[in-house]
Amino acid sequence: MNNHSFRPRRTNFRPQAKRAQKSFSDISKFVNKAVVTEEVVYTPEHSFRDFDINAQLKANILAKGYEHPTPIQDRAIPHILKGEDLVGIANTGTGKTAAFLIPLISKIMSNPQEKVLIVVPTRELAFQIDEELRAFAKNSGLFSVVLIGGSGMGKQISELRHKHHFVIGTPGRLKDHIESGHLRLEGFKTVVLDEADRMLDMGFINDMRFMMSHMAKERHTLFFSATLSSEIEKLIHEFLKTPVRISVKTRDTAKNIDQDIIRIKGKTKFEVLKDLLLQPEFNKTLVFARTKHGAEKIAKALKQSGIKAESIHGDKNQAARLRALSDFKSERVQALVATDVAARGLDISDISHVINFDLPATYEDYVHRIGRTGRAAKKGKALTFIE
Ligand code: AMP
Repeated sequence: MNNHSFRPRRTNFRPQAKRAQKSFSDISKFVNKAVVTEEVVYTPEHSFRDFDINAQLKANILAKGYEHPTPIQDRAIPHILKGEDLVGIANTGTGKTAAFLIPLISKIMSNPQEKVLIVVPTRELAFQIDEELRAFAKNSGLFSVVLIGGSGMGKQISELRHKHHFVIGTPGRLKDHIESGHLRLEGFKTVVLDEADRMLDMGFINDMRFMMSHMAKERHTLFFSATLSSEIEKLIHEFLKTPVRISVKTRDTAKNIDQDIIRIKGKTKFEVLKDLLLQPEFNKTLVFARTKHGAEKIAKALKQSGIKAESIHGDKNQAARLRALSDFKSERVQALVATDVAARGLDISDISHVINFDLPATYEDYVHRIGRTGRAAKKGKALTFIE
């Protein structure tokens, strides 16, 4: 919250990373010991006070404990305030959510007839953005609706009948509401596509196109992605008009994460995991399993061993996932066992360790997984089990 020594983003990650995008067979190439570098403090050009935004919003930003803009906020907010289309190459942990929420809330405060659509890949990310939005939009008379799969349509339809200025949703469910006529996009002049690369990975491309085809041609479009591929470039070309590009993306997320391999010999992976979790410093540990079934099994076995653990994966209903997440955030449980999809984009602070119980499928997944720890210039630890 109050850490503003964001590192300047350098993109000097090792070249093997690119080649190994599709597999994760040669793990030792990727697992680096944390590099101890001198911390260079980013000096923002603006302070929140300088931005031409509503006074109530400024007060809400301060109340949230934000003192200085992060690099992406510093660089993106002035352009978004001018109404320019923008591509942000940024991963979670950079403050990208506030980078688009702050100027858009200010925009809607000045013109409450307009609406904003925020499209995200996962339900958890939708809730996280909504939570942040509510804090920034306090006492502003602005309202939001979350439209995600896995929750009842009926409740969402009745929420859509109430006054709302922001709709945050996942592509499939948004499409359902558009098709059934409950969500009409005419009033929406602004759209944010967040974690667009994840949406592509998850097969949402047709739903994204469907949605964008229902938006006004004259619109304000913001596009965020952690990676830049030729497919992503194609989408940018398709959806945005002469966008400003801002990149704070770092391929060396790993710099402040101490990474190590644990070779499993003479014990099972589960026994090793249990032994680690008995050590006091493993107080908030995120464990990654390859499958939903695996995640469930590990969490159950940990509980049976007397370790407070929960799981988060796609077979759990929405309420159970949120409960597990909140228990982990508040440290009522020590270990959260997750699948890659369920953990994507989760913003959980102060994770002590990430443990790759099962190997990630791709290098990108590895970076995403270990990026859950060592956030906002804090040191983190990531351990990967190898049999
Ligand atoms: P994000 O990249 O949007 O997922 O944000 C990562 C974390 O940084 C979240 O916990 C935010 O609340 C926090 N954060 C975002 N902007 C700031 C800021 N200017 N100062 C302090 N914390 C921030």
